[in-house]
Amino acid sequence: MQWVSLDGKIVPYESATVHIAAAALKYAASVFEGVRGYWNGDSGVLRLFVLDEHLRRLSDSAALMRMDYGHRPDCLVSSIEELILENDLRQDCYLRIAISIIGRGGIETCGPVSVSIDAFPFERKPGASGIHVSVSSWQRITDASMPSRLKCIANYHNGRLAKLQAKLDGYDDTLLLNRNGTLSEAPTSCFFLVKSGRLVTPSLSDDVLASITRQVVCELAGEMNLAVEEREITRSEAYLGDEAFLCGTGAEILPVLSIDRMPLNGGGVGPVTHRISSAYFDAARGRNPAYGARACCVRFSCAEEAP
Ligand code: PMP
Repeated sequence: MQWVSLDGKIVPYESATVHIAAAALKYAASVFEGVRGYWNGDSGVLRLFVLDEHLRRLSDSAALMRMDYGHRPDCLVSSIEELILENDLRQDCYLRIAISIIGRGGIETCGPVSVSIDAFPFERKPGASGIHVSVSSWQRITDASMPSRLKCIANYHNGRLAKLQAKLDGYDDTLLLNRNGTLSEAPTSCFFLVKSGRLVTPSLSDDVLASITRQVVCELAGEMNLAVEEREITRSEAYLGDEAFLCGTGAEILPVLSIDRMPLNGGGVGPVTHRISSAYFDAARGRNPAYGARACCVRFSCAEEAP
């Protein structure tokens, strides 16, 4: 049986439903976080990488969407731990934590809210050996219309349309330009370009999600003495990059082999992308001491040892 957490209680997966009249369904009034858990079989520990940062962004998302939700990280952490143990998740997994307005009123409804957590096994996404991306004809939503920096489900229709179009056109993924015609991000991940040994990524004011992986990549680049520039990137600059990659909690690090069929690094994974990728997995899996404390560790006791 699979379990989910609903408002602090563990309930069967099938019973965690939302009413058709809820503002979450009528107006897409729901915010969420995606968190990865990395399993270490030797120590019997599941490492929820940079969980604090995710819970902080979740509160920010709820506040920006004017939801009746206080900052309750402690309750959330205990519900998360309980759910992981209940589902016996001794493997790499993904958590989806959502705050949804379940009130039945009109467009201005702010509450009450429901807090749900789903946790399920999740391996590496396809594309680890490299992906081919397009530049989308859909424009990234702008912060002048809705807060593009947060994770509200309404925002995802923008990326969904762009991704579906890219797939129909034969690409693995796509990059959206913003209202200024410069690069923003992919539908569910951020973009980095590598040029002459420097990393370049659009700045937070270029209508990108305030990505946690993007921040970690910038820190790791600093550890490697690689310069990072957060600034506008034009489409033609991207075509002429030495290397490029996408990053995100779900995506982790995905090398970009071509943009609009213009090959980067001769169509192979470049050395800087390779170094960033290894450093990222070291941090996420707890092999980099600087990131030892940047995770919430769920410990499975010996009594619960796998058969
Ligand atoms: N942009 C969007 C739209 C996303 O959904 C994600 C995935 N959360 C990202 C970027 C990457 O963000 P993060 O590193 O926080 O997962």
